[in-house]
Amino acid sequence: MAKRLIFLGPPGAGKGTQAQVLSENHQIPHISTGDILRAAVTNQTPLGKQAKDYMDRGELVPDALILSLIQDRLSYEDAGNGWILDGFPRNVNQAVFLEKLLSELNQSADCVLNLEVPDEVLVERLLTRKRKDDNESTIRRRLEVYHQDTVPVINFYQDKETLQTIDGNKSMEEVSESLSAAIA
Ligand code: ADP
Repeated sequence: MAKRLIFLGPPGAGKGTQAQVLSENHQIPHISTGDILRAAVTNQTPLGKQAKDYMDRGELVPDALILSLIQDRLSYEDAGNGWILDGFPRNVNQAVFLEKLLSELNQSADCVLNLEVPDEVLVERLLTRKRKDDNESTIRRRLEVYHQDTVPVINFYQDKETLQTIDGNKSMEEVSESLSAAIA
């Protein structure tokens, strides 16, 4: 089974939910940059203080903050045997950085999973989720940023042939099954 997984997909695609399930089933850490940043904001750490305004506006946090965060996290002992990245990489610069970091760690991603969901479904889902940054204008901005910055990451991995696209517009169970088959 693939143990180094990258989840791509728009906000609201269900990456976090599915990554959590796989993480528990396969005993590999779920590394969500969004969760790490939200915890930093709650704890008012220096990182949190710098990230907060960007997150509230639905913009990406500057790469300078994210890259050192992910470099630290992937060097923890629990990440030696596998990981699921959720929310990273989110632009091509982050993807290029990750390739270099992984080669330094003598690792590589086994599988890039792209969860596809139409925009109108995403807006509905996010509006009912009601996280603090889930108001309509932030949601629209996050989707714009996704199309502008993150869709090119899909093309980046498509060229390397490690990408599998999964229909995320199905029930949670059906998506879980497709994902399990994709990483088997
Ligand atoms: P969603 O999938 O709903 O967009 P996330 O939890 O993945 O939510 O991210 C929430 C916010 O955290 C993003 O809108 C962005 O501001 C910030 N963020 C998370 N990951 C990254 C990243 N890799 N690069 C830049 N900003 C990020």
